[in-house]
Amino acid sequence: MKSLRKFQYAVAAMAMLLVAACAVEPLYDIETEVVENPDYEIIRSLGMSTDGIIEKEDSYIVEGDIVLYKSSMKDYVDKTRHSFVDRISSSRVTDIKVYINPELQINNGGGSTWYQAAFDALQEWNSIDGCIIRFTSVASPTNADIHVERNQTVVGKAIAMASYPSYGRPGPNVWIGDYYDNYTSDQKKYVMVHEFGHTLGFTHTDDQKGTYIPETPTRENLSVMMSSSGGRSWSNYPFTSNDKIAARAIYGIVWSLEITGPNTGYTQQPSAYTLNLGTNLVFLDYYVVSWYVNNVLMQASTSLNYTMTPQTPGQHTLKAEVTYGTTTYQTTKTITATLASPQISKDKYVVYPGEILTCTVDNPNSQARYDWELDGMSNWARDWGPNQPLQIMHYYLNSNSGMSTIRCRARIGNEVSGWSNTLTVYVSDVPLYRAPAPQTDDEEEETEESEEAIKTI
Ligand SMILES: [Zn+2]
Repeated sequence: MKSLRKFQYAVAAMAMLLVAACAVEPLYDIETEVVENPDYEIIRSLGMSTDGIIEKEDSYIVEGDIVLYKSSMKDYVDKTRHSFVDRISSSRVTDIKVYINPELQINNGGGSTWYQAAFDALQEWNSIDGCIIRFTSVASPTNADIHVERNQTVVGKAIAMASYPSYGRPGPNVWIGDYYDNYTSDQKKYVMVHEFGHTLGFTHTDDQKGTYIPETPTRENLSVMMSSSGGRSWSNYPFTSNDKIAARAIYGIVWSLEITGPNTGYTQQPSAYTLNLGTNLVFLDYYVVSWYVNNVLMQASTSLNYTMTPQTPGQHTLKAEVTYGTTTYQTTKTITATLASPQISKDKYVVYPGEILTCTVDNPNSQARYDWELDGMSNWARDWGPNQPLQIMHYYLNSNSGMSTIRCRARIGNEVSGWSNTLTVYVSDVPLYRAPAPQTDDEEEETEESEEAIKTI
């Protein structure tokens, strides 16, 4: 007998899932509120019966032997709901096409048309921070996911009705009656936000059906999804913070941030990094990515790419922070930088007696010191500054073999780089024949010219 009754309830509940009727009364009836103790609603939401409940000063005795303290009621409230029946698949909820029948453009009452109200309501759902809900208004009914139209027969004396999602698709219908055409623009918009809430799967916040949403209250009279709330103006009753929490809980952005790029790098040499936002984020219209190196802001833009140049050897923390609306998410990556091997150049290929060979470090590391090797003598010149060229007079070079090799390495503290490229110079024992200088007044210019001539040999 008992199980039969349960079955009957189940059938009734399934029938109710089809459409959500929104009651005729402009505002919810305050009188009904005071008839029942609001705690009873919470108790029932815990799956307990309020039949025969005994109320004491500080507690309730439920089902004969369960004691619930009144002081705990708020805790139960905080941990339950804002019900929903079904969710739209995440691939669909990011692009819900809504056809608003143009017949709703006819203004035969107060305020804006229902057409405008429906359009404005869609924008409100689209603008909840951290949510992937995106409604688009389309001109053709053919491929629309939701059809918004007049249907007095279905609506009866209610203001409007909407259907719930099924099979991962949004509720396909929103019907509007004409008893409330005299509503203001703001009142119509409130009704439309509420109805689209049903197409997304949200039930009334004072319903028992569906699945409760964590971190939202059992009942919230100010919620846009409260039943019998027709007649409210959207500007006075916008989304509550719990409405937004509920929307994010069911259709929130799934953040899976990850920085891709090398785990190791060289000091003062650039490496490219990319922030991977996760597949759910590609539709986002606007966000800011802030890149930090060791907690210092380096770049803030919509770019997902950052080029990092570690300044010193050791560990560096690269952090990417995405700000979307008022929400911020971040991820970090540790990069170990080692001292890069230097690259060096020389000023001549052949060194003649009496000449000086000058070797320089290309793009030197400003923090580093440089140790030079000449013909295998590894510390031939030690502790050179980053911008200090090494100058070697002809008679230090290995003239016997006719060739000398030079290389160097960088050092910061105990950190030593690998060897640089090796320079080879030819060392001549025969003085270079210099043509007599032409006679001019400008002595300096002549000297420079003749030096140029030597270099090109
Ligand atoms: Zn409703």
